[in-house]
Amino acid sequence: EAYLTAIETANPLINAYVTVTDDKARAMAKASDEKIAKGEAGPLEGIPLGIKDLFATEGVHTQACSHILDGFKPSYESTVTANLFADGAVMLGKLNMDEFAMGSSNETSYYGPVKNPWRKRGSNADLVPGGSSGGSAASVAAHLCAGATATDTGGSIRQPAALTGTVGIKPTYGRCSRWGTVAFASSLDQAGPIARDVRDAAILLTSMASVDPKDTTSVDRAVPDYAAAVGRSVKGLKIGVPKEYRMDGMPAEIETLWQTGIDWLKEAGAEIVDVSLPHTKYALPAYYIVAPAEASSNLARYDGVRYGLRVPGKDIVDMYEKTRAEGFGREVKRRIMIGTYVLSAGYYDAYYLQAQKVRTLIKRDFETVYADGIDALLTPATPSAAFGIADQDMASDPVKMYLNDVFTVTVNMAGLPGIAVPAGIDSDGLPLGLQLIGRPFDEETLFALGSVIE
Ligand code: GLN
Repeated sequence: EAYLTAIETANPLINAYVTVTDDKARAMAKASDEKIAKGEAGPLEGIPLGIKDLFATEGVHTQACSHILDGFKPSYESTVTANLFADGAVMLGKLNMDEFAMGSSNETSYYGPVKNPWRKRGSNADLVPGGSSGGSAASVAAHLCAGATATDTGGSIRQPAALTGTVGIKPTYGRCSRWGTVAFASSLDQAGPIARDVRDAAILLTSMASVDPKDTTSVDRAVPDYAAAVGRSVKGLKIGVPKEYRMDGMPAEIETLWQTGIDWLKEAGAEIVDVSLPHTKYALPAYYIVAPAEASSNLARYDGVRYGLRVPGKDIVDMYEKTRAEGFGREVKRRIMIGTYVLSAGYYDAYYLQAQKVRTLIKRDFETVYADGIDALLTPATPSAAFGIADQDMASDPVKMYLNDVFTVTVNMAGLPGIAVPAGIDSDGLPLGLQLIGRPFDEETLFALGSVIE
């Protein structure tokens, strides 16, 4: 009830929820009460969560914040949300996001931008919460849920977590099932939690992760009790600091924050090692070929026949065209055009195939440093703090928006786990985050290190 009241009061200002499932929340909470009374409580019994609108929720409007999915109510539950609910979690509602998870500011949503609950000191101007999981991050930061589900294809958990002072982890590719999560770029998409602290994120991931016969890319490995790793000693761990992440023009405050993080880990007994990931600079351009290519294919299913919106036309092709013209927003259309272009005959070898080769090189960079005994890497999470809504520079140049992901996309390209942890505030009083990148399936080390930084 406290969370529902908070949502009623604050959501009109923040726009984090696109659907509030109050009746369902009360029914789930009642069922939790009964389980608790019977001594049958699950690990998340009664914990109220927000669910990103990318996760299919049975009987509950699921739209990926796109006009083209108007009115879509899935007849099935995503594996990740089913896992959470089986452990006792309560759903408060569906959270705003960039349309089909494409964006870094939550401004591409059909439901309008999410507003970051943080403000610059002495200013009342609205700031973005980051994206695409902007609703997840803002709702956690504003205490409109106890934790949230999110997804990360190129940074969409870690970047919004960093811009809102929350914790977000993208686990190893294959750790969580993608079944029932609306697909953006299938070889990069991973679900994970956004939470108020490292321990909460660990508890949520323990519940979300599973092998799933319905997603053949999910991996059959026991899910550890991640919370047990929180506070574990990091003494003797070797932490790599990749020199290629020291980008030209990086704000001094980010540089200082990074150094502070290095000092904290040293004090905790970790060894800091300078390392090189030579193909880093190719990650962003390669990502913006691979991700749109897969997106253009995944989005082919929205044809006005199977889901959501249908705009009548004079024949079926006209109907397809009108539905897709009206149903998709500008950024999604841009991705479809890039994606179909790089996959087309004559360009495939020059762009898509080349990008896949670059992806292999990026992955090898990480394999090399891990083979040298590095346990995890420390980098900034984002190149800046939260920026203004309708930032003119970014609105006029989509590539400037894409640069937000410069520190995060490499991790998706290599399928590795990455966590963003709040590490300080800038001179305007806005939160800044650091990122830790781990070995495949070694989320535990990230939780241990994250709890030193937070
Ligand atoms: N901002 C990136 C993009 O627009 C990443 C989004 C994501 O991780 N879903 O593609």
